[in-house]
Amino acid sequence: MNPTACRICRQLLNRYTDLATGEWAWRHPAAAGRPDHDPQPVPADTVAAEYRCDFCSDPKVIYVHRTRNVDAHFIADDHHQVHRYGTNWAACITCSMLVEARDAEGLTSRAQTAIGANLTGDARHALRQLQATIVDSLQAGRTLTAVGQWQPTPVAATLLPRVRDRLSALLRGPDQIDLLPAELRQAVAQGLDGARLYWVDPEFTGLTRHATSALPETPFQSTDLPAPHGLLAWALPLATLAAVSWTSTTDGLLAVGYRAVGAGLQGPDLQRLREHVGWLVPTWCRQIPDGSLVAPTNPARPLSATLLLVAQQLAQTSHAPVDDRIRKAYRRQCREEPEVRLVQIRGSRGTPCSDGNGGQPTGDGVSREYRWWVRGHWRRQPYGPGRSQHRLIYINPQLRGPQDKPIKATTTVRVIGHRHG
Ligand SMILES: [Zn+2]
Ligand SMILES: [Zn+2]
Repeated sequence: MNPTACRICRQLLNRYTDLATGEWAWRHPAAAGRPDHDPQPVPADTVAAEYRCDFCSDPKVIYVHRTRNVDAHFIADDHHQVHRYGTNWAACITCSMLVEARDAEGLTSRAQTAIGANLTGDARHALRQLQATIVDSLQAGRTLTAVGQWQPTPVAATLLPRVRDRLSALLRGPDQIDLLPAELRQAVAQGLDGARLYWVDPEFTGLTRHATSALPETPFQSTDLPAPHGLLAWALPLATLAAVSWTSTTDGLLAVGYRAVGAGLQGPDLQRLREHVGWLVPTWCRQIPDGSLVAPTNPARPLSATLLLVAQQLAQTSHAPVDDRIRKAYRRQCREEPEVRLVQIRGSRGTPCSDGNGGQPTGDGVSREYRWWVRGHWRRQPYGPGRSQHRLIYINPQLRGPQDKPIKATTTVRVIGHRHG
């Protein structure tokens, strides 16, 4: 599914054909209002196109429904135009439910509310006809998609066991999933069932961000894994990445990245999303054979970096509290007590891990309003019999600034000639 979008405004474009002349043209969608430019068509995936619900224009798209080919004809005295909608219909969670229920009237009312106009007569009739045609030509099944525009939000540590359970049910459920090959879903779901759960706190997430950007191309070693299967969520999303799972298979590692969905929804809409989808949606999947290099372009690099950091002295893990209701639910189902491992910087709990500079004015005598990371560097350290093997160790990252102040995630200060720890 790669439709056409406008290079200027990144809106998806509609294609209209004049049946008399055979000429056709791209047009902006109604939701774009009246743009100040002509459409400049390019493939949607080259401009990070802004997908919207095809029914109510909500940017929080979650499913794609398929129909037989749907055309809309516009007939006037002197011309006959056709809008070829095609077979794919992006939907927000609530419109998706209405589509599944084949509720053309419900879709029409929702679209009308979204347009904000009180459609009457022919206009409402035409809209109603279109919705009726869509639900009449609907094909079975729907596809979960990652093209929606969701504000990146973290997953709460206390909820992680439920987030995991919902995700594993989603992978076993009937919905097709964009970006996650069908033949791998079962393996990932089984891995999630037995996954050790990690929640990386904000300080350690900041460290991971720096360590990831500095990470050299490195071979993946399954012996570095703290557990055969895991699900790891960061306190602050790394770009759009909220969590990663890993599953050990006979062919190496199966890593899946997830983005968080739900931000901006409330009440029944949010409840529907949690019931049908959950908290996380797969956005990439990589098979990483043991010993293979994790290249700089591999989206699994943040996982690599986090696991390397957890394996070395920089990390301490403790148990994060789990929501009481979730613990009780586990007990009722006779499952083992859910555990979430909280990943923090060793010796942290509010104290900087570094040179005791925290809380002090900086060298220039100015008190700072935030703390910031001084980037460390990776070093290959020999280990094993005869020190024949090497592992990457992140050296000397430092958190500077007053310890009661927030950490500024985006600031990087490079120290040249710093002391070695
Ligand atoms: Zn445009
Ligand atoms: Zn919608």
